[in-house]
Amino acid sequence: DRTVLWLLGDQLNPDLDALDDVDEVLLIEAHGFADRKPYHAHKLTLVFSAMRHFRDELRERGRDVTYLEAESFGEGLDEFLADRSEADLRLMRPASHGAGERLRELVVERGGSLELLENELFWTTPADWREWAGERDGEGGGGSEPLVAEDGTAERSYRQEGWYRHVRRETGVLMDGDEPVGGEWNYDDLNQETPPDDWEPPERPRFEPDGLTRETHAWVRDRFETWGDDSLDGFAWPVTRGEARAALDAFVRDRLPSFGRYEDAMTTGEPFLSHSLLSPAINLGLLDPHEPVRAVEEAYETRGAEPGAYDPDDAADGGSGATTLDAFSAGGGGTDAAESGAADGADASDGDTDAGDDADRPPVPLNAAEGVIRQLIGWREFMRHVYREAMPGLATANQLDQSRELPPAYWDGDTDMLCLSEAVGHVREYGYAHHIERLMVLSNFALIYGVDPGELNEWFHLGFVDAYHWVTTPNVVAMGSFGTDVLSSKPYASSGNYVNRMSDHCASCPYTVSRTTGEGACPFNALYWDFLKENEETLRGTGRMGLMYSHVDNKDDAEWAEIRERAETVRELAASGEL
Ligand code: FAD
Repeated sequence: DRTVLWLLGDQLNPDLDALDDVDEVLLIEAHGFADRKPYHAHKLTLVFSAMRHFRDELRERGRDVTYLEAESFGEGLDEFLADRSEADLRLMRPASHGAGERLRELVVERGGSLELLENELFWTTPADWREWAGERDGEGGGGSEPLVAEDGTAERSYRQEGWYRHVRRETGVLMDGDEPVGGEWNYDDLNQETPPDDWEPPERPRFEPDGLTRETHAWVRDRFETWGDDSLDGFAWPVTRGEARAALDAFVRDRLPSFGRYEDAMTTGEPFLSHSLLSPAINLGLLDPHEPVRAVEEAYETRGAEPGAYDPDDAADGGSGATTLDAFSAGGGGTDAAESGAADGADASDGDTDAGDDADRPPVPLNAAEGVIRQLIGWREFMRHVYREAMPGLATANQLDQSRELPPAYWDGDTDMLCLSEAVGHVREYGYAHHIERLMVLSNFALIYGVDPGELNEWFHLGFVDAYHWVTTPNVVAMGSFGTDVLSSKPYASSGNYVNRMSDHCASCPYTVSRTTGEGACPFNALYWDFLKENEETLRGTGRMGLMYSHVDNKDDAEWAEIRERAETVRELAASGEL
């Protein structure tokens, strides 16, 4: 019997172990999902173009590939299994909840068989998680009760930091024996600065759309109702494994040094700052998460510098003024960096290009290396497992009973609030906004305004090039909307103060961040206090909101009346698209 590996559109990696010993690869490009909702044109272009490039690359490597275009997986399987229902299909367990079982049923109904394999595109496995969670919970990490109940409350809860330390210990990443390199697990306190006015972020690596991407994009525009910028002007995402490797090299070479320090900053007109921009490639499978983690670790070994050592003045002259730690500059090994693959889109898939002269590259402070690694083996893996554990309750969790519709500004970007129009603008233009815009602007505003978490989740899912159900749902419903307390004990809610501290937006915004009430006051402020008051019953008791509730308690009735009035006005303006 022929063995067939069916790979999904987010499993596009030609170096998977699962590809060993298979006779044929099946890819089904299903379109129906995108007929039902307006996805960002760049997201559809990215996924379909990456699938088509992957098909061609596998064929070039001598693989027998069947590539089907269909309305649904069921229809694709009808065609595939029509004349070979005997085929043994294998599939890496999809990241999306319940999808493995659903797809197996589709195959079995048509007379075939489907074996589910471990998903190799995550670093840690469900068994790794159970080992950690089981030790902690003393019950194997899970009982038979749903983890998240219908009212959003969680039977058990998990914290990223504990998981992250466990994974560092188990994998040895950035470890010095049993101790974390540098002595601290987490250098986040160094990662909360905003750049000086004259600082220029490193250039975004651009992967110019090739013929196949252009053709795919023209078809997407023709075939689907899309949302966001439907030209290809801002589209520069890697669509092949070679480009994804070049994107990683460019990140490690140019962006990593300043990643840490400005990780939480927001600057008007700068959507990307020093973020890695790697999530689209990692989530498609074009990069295995081991690769960015190892590359960052190696860069630290060869170019490492003390925590906080990034100097923005050095960025201007290529970083040659700063020095790496002596202890590390003697270390061998390259970073696998392709010399200029990113900028000109050259194919770096041949792999081990020599790192070149590391001395010419800016040093990598420990807080930057640790910061990226925590995002990847901490947050990314953590979110995946929390999702696995907390579904299906997680998707509909809404412990604060929020039910408002998203304001129209989330769709058209039309608002005078500079932080919000910037963040929505980035999503419309690129299908991307960085972490702090996602958390502290887009979801924070929706949270304190009162948006239904499920609706917000859908908006993120449609609009972002890196969005999949397994990753938006814990991030948006649990972290951003506090629909459940499964992964945090308090909401990520804040007033305009946070945006003011971390950005340069407020200075040029027509709203006044220092005012809470009255016309022209920053909308975040009244919404924030009103949110705390409205949700007092759930939030006061969490134990971590004590300070905030002492401020709530200090406001008198007259102040509350004004706050209420301003919050109501803001809600009306937002709902009618006039904010
Ligand atoms: P960097 O800042 O460079 O971080 C490096 C990598 O760490 C990312 O590429 C990503 O793979 C990983 N990472 C960091 N934080 C998280 C996290 N919380 N969950 C999962 N991975 C993480 N990430 C997605 O991949 N897809 C989403 O649809 C998505 N939606 C989000 C929605 C909200 C409301 C929030 C708060 C976060 C969301 N994130 C999502 C997480 C994070 O914001 C993005 O991974 C990150 O902004 C992607 O940009 P980057 O590659 O430049 O990230």
